[in-house]
Amino acid sequence: MSRILIVEDERHLAEGLRFNLEAEGYQVDVCEDGESALELLEASGSAIDLLVLDVMLPGKDGFEVMAELRREGQYLPTLMLTARGRPEDVLKGFESGADDYLPKPFELAILLARIGGLLRRREWLLASAAAKTTAGDGDKPAAPQVFEVAGRVIDFGTLEIRAESQTFPLTVMEANLLRYLIQHQDQAVSRKAMLEDVWGVREDTDTRPIDNFIVRLRRYLEDDPANPKHLLTVRGVGYRFTP
Ligand code: CA
Repeated sequence: MSRILIVEDERHLAEGLRFNLEAEGYQVDVCEDGESALELLEASGSAIDLLVLDVMLPGKDGFEVMAELRREGQYLPTLMLTARGRPEDVLKGFESGADDYLPKPFELAILLARIGGLLRRREWLLASAAAKTTAGDGDKPAAPQVFEVAGRVIDFGTLEIRAESQTFPLTVMEANLLRYLIQHQDQAVSRKAMLEDVWGVREDTDTRPIDNFIVRLRRYLEDDPANPKHLLTVRGVGYRFTP
């Protein structure tokens, strides 16, 4: 059973979410502010599988909580709840390390779908990494579980990129995006295709968050992130990965 931590100070919303997520078979914890969420996550080790994190919180806001978790090496999948009509919140959320976001107010069915998607992608990543022979994702060619590029080892099993002197842990969505680009290597991939295929976002969404992910991936993969040799920008389209 997956365990989900909800960080939300609006009590009626938090309790409504708890009720519905428990009805779906999840185990649910609720924290009303960022500090207690950080404490609970620290105390629980890796027992929590997914975080639903509101941006507007008393004390530390969701961005600070997110950034602090990633700094401490906590890479659990995180869905951020942002205020409606604030695209800058979405960008800030992705910059701080969130995997996905949902603007408030949201439909419960969509929240459940996003949560299910994040958990499934993580399971799929770990399971497909464990299986030595994989048929791949539908009709796409199977990407190797361990991929070497530019003197780094990308390990989709452990969700990390190992460089000579440093190891970079990957979030689920960083790993999924990188895997997607590797599966489409030497092809220009549009931002819209990435959002649709990696995030499962079909509505008309701001595609700029993709650029934040690419900036992060370049930091892990490129010797000189300002002059990338593998994660290339394709002007007017999106990006191209070349090994
Ligand atoms: Ca709130």
